[in-house]
Amino acid sequence: MDIQQLSSDHRTQAGREPEGVWFAPGRVNLIGEHTDYNDGFVLPFALEKKAVVAVSRRDDGVVSMRSEELDEQVDVAIADLEPGTEGWSSYLAGVVWALRQSGQEVSGVTITLTSDVPLGAGLSSSAAIECAVVAALCDVFGLDIDPMERARVAQLAENAYVGAPTGLLDQAASTLCREDFGLFLDCRSFETAQVPLPMAEAGLEILVLDTKTPHSHVDGEYGARRRTCEEAAAILGVPALRDVTDLDAALAQLPDETMRKRVRHVVTENSRTVEAYEVARSGSLRDLGPLLDASHASMRDDYEITVPTVDLAVAVAREAGALGARMTGGGFGGCIIALCEAGSGDGIGQRVSEAYAAAGYGAPQWFIATPAPGAGRLR
Ligand code: ADP
Ligand code: MG
Repeated sequence: MDIQQLSSDHRTQAGREPEGVWFAPGRVNLIGEHTDYNDGFVLPFALEKKAVVAVSRRDDGVVSMRSEELDEQVDVAIADLEPGTEGWSSYLAGVVWALRQSGQEVSGVTITLTSDVPLGAGLSSSAAIECAVVAALCDVFGLDIDPMERARVAQLAENAYVGAPTGLLDQAASTLCREDFGLFLDCRSFETAQVPLPMAEAGLEILVLDTKTPHSHVDGEYGARRRTCEEAAAILGVPALRDVTDLDAALAQLPDETMRKRVRHVVTENSRTVEAYEVARSGSLRDLGPLLDASHASMRDDYEITVPTVDLAVAVAREAGALGARMTGGGFGGCIIALCEAGSGDGIGQRVSEAYAAAGYGAPQWFIATPAPGAGRLR
C-alpha cells in the first residue's frame, strides 16, 4: 500500500493535492452464516487488508474515479448517475448517489483508489471501497452522519446502485469495527456490541485461507436458500426464522426434509453466534473452537453450501492442530477461518496447501488475521 504513489497519481488525475487519505477494511465473519437475512445475528471482525482513497473536491460536477489495481479511470457527471450502471466504478459512484439520495449535499470529486483486499474472495473488497469513500466524502463535505448511518449509505449504494442484494454485515463491519474487537450485530434492530477478541493475549491467532475455488451457481443457490427460509417462516407463522424459539416443535411443523435441514441450520447458527458472543465476553476465546466446528458441520450437512475444496481445507486444518475451523462467507467456495495456537497458523496453512496439491487442487493463499479498526482517516 503505497500512499505516496496514491497521492502522486491523485495529483495527475485531479491536477491538485488530495484533501486527505481515508481507508476502510475488508472483513471476515467469525460466525453467523446466512443468519443476516433471517433477522439474526452475525459476528464479523475487520481485517488489516483495506481500501485506501485519496480524495479532493472539484467544481465541474464530475465524479472522477481511478482504480490503481485495474489501472482504469471512469468519469461521470453527477447529473448522469444512474442506478444499474455496470462495472467497478459503480461501487464508488453509487456512494455519491446514495448520499445525495439521502439528502446530503455532495458535488463533484476526484477519487483515487487502491486496495489490498483481494477482489471476490469473500473478504468484502466491495464494502471496503464503498465505506472508504463514505468516510472520505463525510469529511470533505462536512457531513454529520453517524457510523451506523454511514454503513447504511454504503449498503444502499451496493443494493440500489450496483444492484447486489446484500445485507448490512459487510458495511457495518467495515465501518464500525475496532482494533482487537469483533462486532456483534443484530440484523433486525441494527444494535451492535463490541466483542473483545484479544487473540495475541490469549495465545491464539486466526488463519484465513482462501481456497481460490471459483464460485459457481452461487447466486441461484443463495436465492433458493433465502426463499426456503421465507417459506418456512410463513408456515411457522413467525416474521423471520430468528423468532423460532422451540426448534423441535418448529421442525415437526415443516413439510419436507430439505426445509427442516435449512431451518435447523439457521436456528442453531443463530444460537451459536449468541454463544460465541458470550464466550468472547467471558474471555475464554479457546471455547470458540467447538462453535466454529459445529458451524461448519451445520453449513455442510444442513445448509449444504460447502464444496469439497472447502471441506478438505477445514478437515486438514483440524488435523493439523487448529482448535476449530469453518467456512466463512456465503458458501460454494471462498475462504475458511481456523482458530489456531499462536505461531501455528502458517504451518496449518502449509499443511492445507500440501493436501490441495495431493488432491490435484490449485494452490490456496492464506494469512494470519488480526482484528483491525474500521474506517477512518489516514492523513
Ligand atoms: P467481495 O466483496 O467479496 O470482494 P464482490 O463481488 O462483492 O466481492 O466485490 C468485488 C468487486 O468490487 C470487484 O469486481 C470490483 O468491481 C470491485 N472492487 C473491489 N476492489 C476494487 C479495486 N481495488 N478496484 C476496482 N474495483 C474494485
Ligand atoms: Mg462484496
